[in-house]
Amino acid sequence: MARTFFVGGNFKMNGLKESIKAIVEQLNAAELPSNVEVVIAPPALYLDWAQTHLKQATVEIAAQNSFDKNTGAYTGEVAVEQIKDVGAKWVILGHSERRTILNETDEFVASKTKFALDNGLGVILCIGELLEERDAGKTIEVVNRQIDAVVEKVKDWSNIVIAYEPVWAIGTGLAATPEDAQAVHAAIRKHLVEVIGAEQAENTRIIYGGSVNGKNAKSFNGAADIDGFLVGGASLKPEFVDIINARQ
Ligand code: PEP
Repeated sequence: MARTFFVGGNFKMNGLKESIKAIVEQLNAAELPSNVEVVIAPPALYLDWAQTHLKQATVEIAAQNSFDKNTGAYTGEVAVEQIKDVGAKWVILGHSERRTILNETDEFVASKTKFALDNGLGVILCIGELLEERDAGKTIEVVNRQIDAVVEKVKDWSNIVIAYEPVWAIGTGLAATPEDAQAVHAAIRKHLVEVIGAEQAENTRIIYGGSVNGKNAKSFNGAADIDGFLVGGASLKPEFVDIINARQ
């Protein structure tokens, strides 16, 4: 089964009503390929706003985080049920900014992943190594550990998209080279074969994130295990459409 190319836009804690509406309207006006799945992740406050203005059939909405419990006494958290209630279909979990700044552990990310999947959201599961881990030759060890925490809790990976995002490449302008990214993606897929089986491993999308922009996106074409991108800064700009079209 061919894996559908997947491009996510992570707005992070950026945007106000007017600018988010402008990004959505720009996507509405663009000619987007029907063979690319596009997901945009505005801040939680604006999920409903983005969904209301979105008119593109191939674009869906994601939250940037969700909790591992149902609605209740969890001040400041966002429930899966609430995310679904405003029409969003996805959630980004395990982003390095949450792992490092908010101290989210592998186990907590795994628990949230299981809860989101069990309750009907697709999960964009972010993994990736810090610069010092890369320099110590620990990249594969780190991403495998992050994957294994989820494997312990989740057996069906059909609604997970893995985003490999080397932390040193996020927001730095220093994207991984297509060769380096492909090598890590291939190693991730090899590990998936071992832990969730060959068929699920073959079907799981592994997308790359870290300083992807309208200029470098095409350079990843031809990398057999790179099934799309997770885009931060450039998803707020018109070049996001060029990234969506990079594989055409
Ligand atoms: C991200 O935040 O997921 C990301 C990849 O950011 P950027 O594209 O800005 O490096």
